[in-house]
Amino acid sequence: MSPEKLASFGGEKTIVGKLDKYRSIGSEELAAANIVIENGILSEYVASFSDGFMGGKYVQELEKQCERVFGVKHAIAVNSWTSGLVCAVGAIDVEPGDEVIVTPWTMSATVAAILHWGCIPVFADIDMSNFMMIPEKVEELINERTRALLVADIFGQSANYEPLIKLSQQYNLKIISDTAQAPYANTTLGFAGTIADIGGISLNYHKHIHCGEGGVIFTNDDELSLRMRLIRNHAESCVEDSGVKSLSNMIGFNFRLGEIEASIALEQLKKLPKIVKRRQQIAQNLAFAINQLDGLLVPEPIEGSEHVYYGLPIIYDPEKFSVSRNKFVEFLLAEGALGFSGGYINCHRLPALVNKIALGKSGFPWSLNPSVVYNYGDNTCPNAEYLNDVSCITFEMCMFELSDKDVDLIIKAIQKVHKFCVIKNLD
Ligand SMILES: *Cc1c(COP(=O)(O)O)cnc(C)c1O
Repeated sequence: MSPEKLASFGGEKTIVGKLDKYRSIGSEELAAANIVIENGILSEYVASFSDGFMGGKYVQELEKQCERVFGVKHAIAVNSWTSGLVCAVGAIDVEPGDEVIVTPWTMSATVAAILHWGCIPVFADIDMSNFMMIPEKVEELINERTRALLVADIFGQSANYEPLIKLSQQYNLKIISDTAQAPYANTTLGFAGTIADIGGISLNYHKHIHCGEGGVIFTNDDELSLRMRLIRNHAESCVEDSGVKSLSNMIGFNFRLGEIEASIALEQLKKLPKIVKRRQQIAQNLAFAINQLDGLLVPEPIEGSEHVYYGLPIIYDPEKFSVSRNKFVEFLLAEGALGFSGGYINCHRLPALVNKIALGKSGFPWSLNPSVVYNYGDNTCPNAEYLNDVSCITFEMCMFELSDKDVDLIIKAIQKVHKFCVIKNLD
């Protein structure tokens, strides 16, 4: 039987209707936000080291509930996870010119937080099967300027922290984890985001749970917790009253989350286990069907680590197909299977880094280490580049509210395009 005519060539589209946009907000959030509005106090922060310094009732309740749910000593609510990352890098007492080893396979905010403090991102290439930094590569990059590792728990699972923690102990480094995409992903070492010195989640729309914009930082360290709470709320004006040991990097910002957002986040937090379970169910169904198809593979989750599927990565073997990965993705999109994209992100190729113009035009902060050569761009992280350019397809599950019927149709679309593009093995 010859394959069906693809929608790209005028055939019938597999998914005719639109996939619903992700929606986790309901009557519970509406009721919670209403109460805050009726109270009339939409933020209760003050920027002096007094009762109001740690935020209002809902912010503090959100932190308390996050500490309970994620099993961590300190949860610190902020107005975005990008702000959380900025707090984290500042809190570990970095100096401008210090190096932070980071993955290229992450959102640009991970890298921006490093540059924010005048630190220099150094990229460790990733493992082709799990998209995480390769510990051996990380170790090769460590030198006397290295201060920290910034790990991204990308696509929805925790990195394997055991070898990284060993390195951090051996070389006296801090570890920060960007767990924006992996809230409630359990591991043998605890929930993702609670394993490193500092971690945390995003509460931006498209993340598993959200309140519009927001984030929550996690740490088990009292001093780091206080420093981050200071950076969140205009540290400079009151740091001397706080009892914090080091006064550096205490310039302080306004990274405060509002009470409406916190009240919504509290309701969302209650829904998190259910949301994760549903996401896993969908991913399992997709993975099972995709793994029957020659040339496509959904990699197994890392051992000892639960996957909560912000995105579903699929490895495309170009040798098995008559078309490039990009063409395959184009065909899928034409079938109405939205949310598929070729590759993910290569932060080491960002123009700000390649041209060293992240902070002005005079090469800062790289200029602080004039004898060191920092290379970014093509051919510096070959695995991440191959995945991005040739072999990885990402299904952004986070964008949709998928019914079982939607999942069936997505599988049909993949099967149809696969049948059309796969090179038949004649023996
Ligand atoms: C979403 C995301 C961020 C940024 O979080 P915001 O809350 O949107 O600032 C950072 N890192 C990763 C990996 C993300 O997916």
